[in-house]
Amino acid sequence: MARIVQKFGGTSVGDLDRIKEVARRIKATRDEGHEVVVVVSARSGVTNELLAKAAAINPQPHEREMDMLLAVGEQETIALMAMALHALGVPATSRTGGQAGILTSPSHTRARIMRIDPAKLEDRLKAGEVVIVAGFQGIDLEGQITTLGRGGSDLSAVALAAALHADLCQIFTDVEGVYTADPRIVPEARLIPEISYDEMLELASLGSKVMQARSVELAKKYGVTFEVRSSFTQNPGTIVKEEVVSMEDVVVRGAAADKDQAKIIVSNILDKPGSAARVFQALAKAEVLVDMIVQNVGRNGIANLTFTVPRGDARRAEAAVAALLDDLGGGHVTVFESIAKLSVVGVGMRNHSGVAATVFTALAEAGVNIQMISTSEIKISLIIDLDQADRATRAVHAAFKLGEQAPAAVGG
Ligand code: ASP
Ligand code: MG
Repeated sequence: MARIVQKFGGTSVGDLDRIKEVARRIKATRDEGHEVVVVVSARSGVTNELLAKAAAINPQPHEREMDMLLAVGEQETIALMAMALHALGVPATSRTGGQAGILTSPSHTRARIMRIDPAKLEDRLKAGEVVIVAGFQGIDLEGQITTLGRGGSDLSAVALAAALHADLCQIFTDVEGVYTADPRIVPEARLIPEISYDEMLELASLGSKVMQARSVELAKKYGVTFEVRSSFTQNPGTIVKEEVVSMEDVVVRGAAADKDQAKIIVSNILDKPGSAARVFQALAKAEVLVDMIVQNVGRNGIANLTFTVPRGDARRAEAAVAALLDDLGGGHVTVFESIAKLSVVGVGMRNHSGVAATVFTALAEAGVNIQMISTSEIKISLIIDLDQADRATRAVHAAFKLGEQAPAAVGG
């Protein structure tokens, strides 16, 4: 007998037929003799509908009331799921986040989980019941309902798996798992059977938004192994776990392009101490998240500074920097919106040489120009033309033979 946490996302419980289908799946797991804790999201679209209703009533709703409202979406699903299980003859009981013992900080709409009192659920599991918990919500010390931020049901599932010392945490979604690249762009992309937390984090923050990055971080912190898999098929998915030595045999795990970036060049500013500090202080004050930064070598006392930001922040960033230009000795700020960030990720990069050379060669052969480069231990990121993002992803994917069963190592 194992203790299993199964989380079902919005599309998995999207309508009544889906809820019944998921109930059958839960029953099958329980019939194998396991203890099952289920975490569910609101039906897909429901949270957005609730947000729209709030906006139509009051453009600046109090955050406490917002949480009161948003928590409703998940509450509908837990009750319906319990009823669906009862109809199948399975003893089951629903719990709100608060009733499940999920205690959070008081910061409404973006609360953090502080601790979970597992005794609340242990009792029901011992009594042989399936416990269905509303994801995305908890209560603070005063008993106020809080929510955890968009996509927060994943976080609820991982935190419950840690608190209940579950043997397995399964995140059911509408994709088969994590792929070597987005299969819509790279037809040869392959499902990755096993991936480390760090690789998953890098890929999650890029194109493959399979799961909320914060949940992966929490799983890493508490060593919760989890599986991302589809609730629409019976296929095994991707296991996300602690890095093991054999993972380094694979040099590159996957490639993804982030098409939501913009590049900003601040040119002809004074090359003197404090220039960069002024620029990035202004960006921080404007709450712009800066990603890659490159500064060209100064010449004749003049320098250029280039950085990337989320495209939605580009105009705000431009305005923040433009306001400083006089103080920086004149200069120009230019925004380039049609760029993409291509990243190649793999823990094997740490001890294999030649990875960068393979990437650059593949892009050169595909006629893709590289505008900026940054590297970390397990990732190489490049800024390229937005128009070339798909072609570049395919070229890199092919160069590392990611579509083949056992990807070959390059270099030494
Ligand atoms: N229902 C919430 C949302 O849409 C939480 C979740 O689905 O994970 O963000
Ligand atoms: Mg969701």
